[in-house]
Amino acid sequence: MSCLDSFAEITRRDEPLAPYTWLKLGGPAQYLMEPRHVEELAQVVKCAHETGTSLHILGDGSNLLIRDEGISGIVIRLVSGDFSKIEVAGDSVTAGAGGLLSHVISRSVAAGLTGLESLAGVPGTIGGAIIGNVGGKSGEVGALVESIDVMTNSGEIETIPAELLGFGYRKSNINAAVVLSAALKLREGDPQEITKRLRKMWIMKKASQPLSSQSAGCIFMNPQGLSAGALIDQAGLKGTRIGDCEVSEMHANFIITHENATSADLLRLIDLIRSKVQDYHGIELELEIKIWGH
Ligand SMILES: Cc1cc2nc3c(=O)[nH]c(=O)nc-3n(C[C@H](O)[C@H](O)[C@H](O)COP(=O)(O)OP(=O)(O)OC[C@H]3O[C@@H](n4cnc5c(N)ncnc54)[C@H](O)[C@@H]3O)c2cc1C
Repeated sequence: MSCLDSFAEITRRDEPLAPYTWLKLGGPAQYLMEPRHVEELAQVVKCAHETGTSLHILGDGSNLLIRDEGISGIVIRLVSGDFSKIEVAGDSVTAGAGGLLSHVISRSVAAGLTGLESLAGVPGTIGGAIIGNVGGKSGEVGALVESIDVMTNSGEIETIPAELLGFGYRKSNINAAVVLSAALKLREGDPQEITKRLRKMWIMKKASQPLSSQSAGCIFMNPQGLSAGALIDQAGLKGTRIGDCEVSEMHANFIITHENATSADLLRLIDLIRSKVQDYHGIELELEIKIWGH
């Protein structure tokens, strides 16, 4: 008997993952587990490490493409309330990694704290936001982080200060098994001004991105000083389709997935965009989304 068998109550085998992603694509997880509290998460993480079973943390699936074949090993979702607590004390906010960034933004704005409102409209969890240092023209989440709590492969909890997290453009150097929470330092501000900025960010985002369609946000990172969307647009690729996957007419760095889309089609469209942009501009685009599976 393996230690994996002791998690039957929180495990679903061969669970389709597509419904848990924004692209609504991809095959099943061998084991999908939803630990009920931090101690149970520690047992799962330890067991995975001891048995050499691969471990993946699924946030809100908004930056993720899962291959049609699915993924072996354990996929964890931090959906229990234990992982999404938000605490506000003065100008500091501590947020559980499983909670949505949008909830933390709302709580901060309600408390008259400024900083996070520039991330209005960015989907996903706090864990995903920290791992990928989400941001936009008005700043990145990493600039607001004081420290994070993580769980190591052996199930221990460690606090890591921001200066050791290696935040860069859409990246961090976090290699712990799980991000558990983030402590953010915001600033006190005028609630009316903060709400005004929040609304403005929303309006700008809605006007420039196809937010009502299925997508994973920007597929490619912007090359230094350039816009990946503009490069794709200039290469004449807006509206290009493979199967039921389509380069958005509104924002060329978004790929929209329609009803019968598959991950294989989306990967072929990604390859096509890369090779056309390489031919047209001599620039190699790098992926912003994460791809799971072999
Ligand atoms: C419509 C749309 C608009 C978007 N706009 C923006 C934008 O303006 N700026 C921007 O930067 N991004 C944007 N994104 C991308 C996406 O919102 C972010 O990357 C988001 O932070 C991903 O969070 P998630 O919880 O969905 O992570 P997922 O997609 O579930 O996972 C992403 C990665 O994070 C890891 N991960 C997640 N949680 C944890 C955890 N607790 N511990 C360890 N690893 C973890 C996963 O293993 C995976 O490798 C957009 C996406 C969409 C669909």
